[in-house]
Amino acid sequence: MNIVEESLTIDGLGIGSGSRELLQRILATTRQCVLAMDRETRVIGWNAAAQDIFSRNGRIAGRRLSEIVRDLDLHEAFRRALSSGLTSEVRLELIDTERRKFDVHVAPIELDGRNCAIGFFYETTRIDRLESVRQEFLSNISHELRTPLTSILAFVETLEDGAMEDVENNRRFLTVIRRNAERMSTLIADILELSLIESGKVSVDPRNVRLHEMVDEIFASLRTKAASRDVTLFNDVQPGTAVFADVIRLEQMLVNLIDNAIKFNRESGSVVVAHSREAGRDLITVADSGEGILPEHLSRIFERFYRVDKARSRDMGGTGLGLSIVKHLARLHGGEVSVRSVLSEGTTFQIELPVHAPDHSSD
Ligand code: ADP
Repeated sequence: MNIVEESLTIDGLGIGSGSRELLQRILATTRQCVLAMDRETRVIGWNAAAQDIFSRNGRIAGRRLSEIVRDLDLHEAFRRALSSGLTSEVRLELIDTERRKFDVHVAPIELDGRNCAIGFFYETTRIDRLESVRQEFLSNISHELRTPLTSILAFVETLEDGAMEDVENNRRFLTVIRRNAERMSTLIADILELSLIESGKVSVDPRNVRLHEMVDEIFASLRTKAASRDVTLFNDVQPGTAVFADVIRLEQMLVNLIDNAIKFNRESGSVVVAHSREAGRDLITVADSGEGILPEHLSRIFERFYRVDKARSRDMGGTGLGLSIVKHLARLHGGEVSVRSVLSEGTTFQIELPVHAPDHSSD
């Protein structure tokens, strides 16, 4: 902590010069910002963190509080500490190159026999951001679960109100109920999967995987879906190609991307899966001939629950979590997933994986 007047000691704490130096060093290294003010609310003490936050426009020594930060509540807190000896907690928001938030604790302090005030600024920007992400996630989950649940309840009520005897429709209603229950179950499975991955509880076990064969198997499992939309699937991966990945996780990523490429394709479109190797990276691409994605959506589709057209995604059984899971799984492999898209021509997703360095230990 810097002290304006050399003679200033922290008398109020009844400490000697050795302890004072220790205290100064602690304050100098603490990440929390500390500011001390005299009776005229002029800065008489500060640490490196305070310097960093408040002295962008020059020195802070001896400057008035109003010159370095404009915030009525903060001024009032220092004034209360100086004139009435009261302690206060205030929230402070600073808008510099970015918005930063602080919880500030202001207290009276006696320094060198004089009434002064000291403020400790705890930065909460990151915690606030995490909290708002958490709340948004929870509200998204509730909303996503409520939609199919509302539908289930409505159809059960219709059946109870007499539709059970309606042989023409009762099977149809049951099908709708089943579809919505399945949607809820898929959603819960995806949420659990995502939270497991995000909490670091999922690890990958990479091995050499025969990519051509894996793509063929995925195509076989999705062929009925592709046929229902008249979408043709092409496996352009050279037979014999091996990539270094966790078998189950790679399959999960590819199923997600190929399933999307079928769902968001046009009637009679195509999906091409290909592989190349560049600069020590295996590149696996899934290209479709769908309508494409507008640039403003492109940067957001890997976010949880982000969908270009929510209603359409839901109708097709989507949860809006698939790409987010793919992104995490690619990163767990030390790789990445990216996307490029041309409107009315199609979209290409690319999974990038590090190539396995051959083990020569047995050579
Ligand atoms: P879901 O498919 O369950 O909706 P995803 O996380 O897999 O969720 O995808 C998020 C959104 O990205 C989709 O709702 C869709 O709007 C868009 N999207 C994904 N893949 C494609 C694609 N191949 N073509 C066009 N849009 C796509």
